Amino acid sequence: MPTLVFGPGDRDGYTLRKVAELRLTLAFECRNCRKIAQEDILELIEKHGLAAKLGDLRRRAKCTRCNRRAADILLRQPGVRGDKAWRPHPPRATRD
Ligand SMILES: [Zn+2]
Repeated sequence: MPTLVFGPGDRDGYTLRKVAELRLTLAFECRNCRKIAQEDILELIEKHGLAAKLGDLRRRAKCTRCNRRAADILLRQPGVRGDKAWRPHPPRATRD
């Protein structure tokens, strides 16, 4: 089973190229209302370029439900089933 190492702050430094190379699925989770927005990596690359960093996208991402800019980035690795595939946590797994 492939294991990726995600440090707490690492995700913000990932480029879209790296996400695509690792075949990760990317989703934004709203820290305010927990809405999940799954993103198409190819569309993101087309819009922002291969060198765009996740941290920049995260700061700009606006929730379509509550309109807040409070996105968290969730990454899902391929070939792993269930909740364990998600880093840093599966969708809706945290509560404030
Ligand atoms: Zn929201």
